[in-house]
Amino acid sequence: MPADAPGFATRAIHLGYDPMDEQGALTPPLHLTSTFAFETAEAGGEMFAGTREGHIYSRISNPTTDLLERRIAGLEGAQAGLATASGMGAITAVMWTFLSPGDEVITDTTLYGCTFSFLRHGLARFGVTVTHVDLTDPAALAAAISPRTRIVYFETPANPNMRLVDIAAVSAIARAAGARTVVDNTYATPVLTRPVELGADIVVHSATKYLGGHGDLIGGLIAGGAEDLARVRAEGVKDMTGAVMAPFNAFLILRGLKTLQIRIERHCRSAMAAARMLEAHPGVAAVHYPGLASFAQHDLARRQMPGFGGMIAFELHGGFAAGAAMMNRLTLIRRAVSLGDAESLIQHPASMTHSTYTAEERHAHGIADGLVRLSVGLEDEPDILADLARALPRQREAAA
Ligand SMILES: *Cc1c(COP(=O)(O)O)cnc(C)c1O
Repeated sequence: MPADAPGFATRAIHLGYDPMDEQGALTPPLHLTSTFAFETAEAGGEMFAGTREGHIYSRISNPTTDLLERRIAGLEGAQAGLATASGMGAITAVMWTFLSPGDEVITDTTLYGCTFSFLRHGLARFGVTVTHVDLTDPAALAAAISPRTRIVYFETPANPNMRLVDIAAVSAIARAAGARTVVDNTYATPVLTRPVELGADIVVHSATKYLGGHGDLIGGLIAGGAEDLARVRAEGVKDMTGAVMAPFNAFLILRGLKTLQIRIERHCRSAMAAARMLEAHPGVAAVHYPGLASFAQHDLARRQMPGFGGMIAFELHGGFAAGAAMMNRLTLIRRAVSLGDAESLIQHPASMTHSTYTAEERHAHGIADGLVRLSVGLEDEPDILADLARALPRQREAAA
């Protein structure tokens, strides 16, 4: 990004769109069309050959989606963007594009449940080895990586236990070994972390979460180098998964992005207050929030994230029984999976989002049975804190 480029919020609102190109329409139009007419037979052939610019068919590109793709690229500091039907569509399209039988993926121990399942059970059936390495320790990656390693994949903060990975250190090791670094930036969003600027090759998002921000759609986004993304578009999305984003979802995500920065600021502020309150409560056994001084990787969080996000993981004394009782006493915070919405949401990873792991796998991968995951929403902070305070056990004994 050049030094004189407009700021983040300005880009999130304006990048790539001039109303004067669309009869003055302030809001970018929604192009609900599957296919595009060619001026001449020759022009169509040239578009297929790649010697002429233009849209052919909406599984390849669409003007509304194209604007969203340019916007996410601009926000992530990447050359190119690509929209997909879901976060899983983004992840699988990247993997199918760059992996062949015999290759290895190195990934952290903690992953979102469906990503874990895809890597562990899906890719394994196609002859790809998936190796879990503790990526919070870059030296462990340096020891494990080999010429067979094609992709190093991780989330930071990781879903659900909030582990952080040093993106610059891990990307440098991967690059030296000839592997691509792919970062799931769903939790941090480009407001708090821009992995490509830190050396990663590709960023993937569940746009369902903060980028859309309103709990009304499923979508995915990818950002990275232009050559890599042209391949993912042509191979992983167009031919292998077909996981394209519908133009209407692109329209809604463009709308969501306009408020991304101010929403994230509010999420961060309220989550910090909730994390402090939870940490001080006698019924709470552990709180995992990067903004707390007690967080194991607080120094890395301060170095890598200008704010600590809206997600908190915590455990009560009394484990899941106490956690479930607390969840059932909440009246404002909704018991629901997903995250990053205006509404505060709470869920239990072991029985919900991460039930794709066996109990043994959850143990081995550091996902405690009693862990509860809270997505702090945009309601008034005192209302969120009051709902939690009412629902938490009065004291440690009450939870036993
Ligand atoms: C939700 C989520 C996904 C999957 O995204 P979908 O849009 O539900 O397909 C991937 N990674 C993380 C970290 C998530 O939270």
